[in-house]
Formats: sequence, structure tokens, C-alpha cells
Amino acid sequence: MNRFDKAETALQPGMVAILGLPSDENSSFMSGPALAPQKIREVLHSGEGNLCAENGLDLGSEPRLRDLGDLDLGQGSEALEQIEAAVSDLLTHDVRLLSLGGDHAITYPIVRALARKYERLNVLHLDAHPDLYDEFEGSRISHACPFARIMEENLIGRLVQVGIRTLNPHQRAQVERFGVEMIDMQKWTQGIELEFQGPLYLSLDLDVLDPAFAPGVSHHAPGGLSTRDVLQIIQGLRAPLVGADIVELNPLRDWADMTAMTAVKFLKEIAACMLESNGVTEP
Ligand code: MN
Ligand code: MN
Repeated sequence: MNRFDKAETALQPGMVAILGLPSDENSSFMSGPALAPQKIREVLHSGEGNLCAENGLDLGSEPRLRDLGDLDLGQGSEALEQIEAAVSDLLTHDVRLLSLGGDHAITYPIVRALARKYERLNVLHLDAHPDLYDEFEGSRISHACPFARIMEENLIGRLVQVGIRTLNPHQRAQVERFGVEMIDMQKWTQGIELEFQGPLYLSLDLDVLDPAFAPGVSHHAPGGLSTRDVLQIIQGLRAPLVGADIVELNPLRDWADMTAMTAVKFLKEIAACMLESNGVTEP
């Protein structure tokens, strides 16, 4: 049962809209992330935990949170066009979009749509991988490429990447080429301050976590952040969070839904951050 989709009222400005994007055909190594939106909802509504965020906001009785279900996606570039069109439609209602991937390829069309609405959009990207490949194994829409597409189209102001630990020479050159601001794992320290001006988009690849915290991802990258590190980043955001995605959950590789529960935890904290605005003014 889904407790967020009861309201029959139209979308209102300021609402948080959850949208599932069940796509993994652009994954380079394993399939599975297409099953993630359904798995996240299953765990969210399983009764294993309550629906409160850590600031006390009870998402279970929060009329400003709506689950719009999953988008019915086609294949190839058509799927990306469908995502961009759907996000553009949603943004006409002035909602904040929290999308559930799917693999990381979904972020490019989402940011394309958001960039048309928010002129000076900044992106905070948490990931073990920079996803800056010009192309990967013959594909320019691979989940290894979305931030190269976003940067070469000049869609955003700043791209700040945190948690990276897989840079190779090509991706290092892309970092230079696009002026990416990177706090890689070697530079990471707890309590680091991330400052943004203006509207912010958060792209959260679950493999930013150490595999000890999140085994249910396609690419294990040891030496990553803890769950609490990521929560502190989310809770510390002081910019208007106008959109976010949680990507790369692979239920086929998970253990006892541990990683799905972690995705649920992040979903709750991101939704709370969007609804409370952390005391910042609207963009
Ligand atoms: Mn990624
Ligand atoms: Mn990754």
C-alpha cells in the first residue's frame, strides 16, 4: 500500500513529488536498478520503521508529499526524452521533484528540464564515480556519462562532486575541461562545509557509500562514505533544494534489503530538507 498517493487534489506549488524511473538499460555492468523504485516503496511502506525524518517531520501525515508512481518508459533515447518531458510538465506545477532511479543515466534528462526553469542551477553529485566519460563502450547516454552531457551543454552553474574514488586519466581530463569542483575521498573530512548560492539539485548515487553500508549497488567501490556522512551532508544543505534523485540501487545485489532501507532513509531526509527548506528563502 502506498500512503502518499491518497490525495486526489492537484499538485500545489511547494509540494514534493516522488517519481519512479525504472530504467537500467544504460548500465554498463549489471541490470537490476530498474527494480529499485518498486523496492524502495515496498520497504518504505513495510512497517519496519516509521515515516518520520530526523527533524521530527512525519512524512506519513504530510499532505505536501505525493508519490506519482513510476513513469512508463520506452527504450534508448526515447526513454530519456520521456523523462525530460515528464519532468518539464511537473515543473509547471512548481513542485520539487524527488526521483527514484534507475541507473544514473536518468539524471541528464532531469537536469535538462530543470535547467530551463532554474537559470543558475547548481548540482551536488555524491558518487564513487565522476560519471564524466565522453562515451562509454560506444554509448554517450551510458550511466558513466551523464555529467559530461550536462557540462558540455552548459546546463548548470557549478558541479560539485563528493566521494569520488575512481578517477582515471580520461575522467581527470574531463574534470579539468569542465571546471568540476571535486572533493574526492582522499580530500574528504567529516564536517566539511559545502556552500551553495541559489537553487540546488542533489544527485545521490548510492555507491558513494562504502559497500559495507550499501552492498546493493552494481559497482562496489571500497573506501567510501558512511550512511551518517551522507545524512550530515543532506541535513547540512543551506540552499533551496529544488530537485533530487536517488539512483543505482540494485535490489538483485542487496542483502536483506539493507541498501533499500538506506535509500528509504535518504528519501525521508531529502523530502524533509525540501519541505522545510532549512530556513532558506525560495529561489
Ligand atoms: Mn553514478
Ligand atoms: Mn557510482
